[in-house]
Amino acid sequence: MKEKTILVIEDDEMNLKLVRTLLKVCRYGVIEAMDAENGIELAREHHPDLILMDIQLPGMDGLKATGIIKNDPDLKEIPVVAITAFAMEGDEEKALKAGCDGYIVKPIDTRKFCATIETYCNNKGKDIDSGKEVS
Ligand code: MN
Repeated sequence: MKEKTILVIEDDEMNLKLVRTLLKVCRYGVIEAMDAENGIELAREHHPDLILMDIQLPGMDGLKATGIIKNDPDLKEIPVVAITAFAMEGDEEKALKAGCDGYIVKPIDTRKFCATIETYCNNKGKDIDSGKEVS
């Protein structure tokens, strides 16, 4: 089976490094962007199996970028999972409203990460943290 490719859009180097390491351990291919504009470009170029989207990015934020992806006929089928900071209350709701298929809270739970990613790759539109359907 072909390896799945995950596009990570994250401007925080520490978090990007952690996510990259975890994804590689789980045998995913990883592509990376540190801002939304570059991320959308890479999504068009590589058509990844999943996009991990940080919400707070320099320039265009992750919510706006998700809106662009979900309004693009060529990209809208790609699941987008927001990476939200634990302290940012209301971010989860905003992420889902903006079109994200789910969210992962920072700091990332490294034990659950791979299973979470696999579920989102195969079963988009389901919020596995709460078990509720979100779309
Ligand atoms: Mn950020």
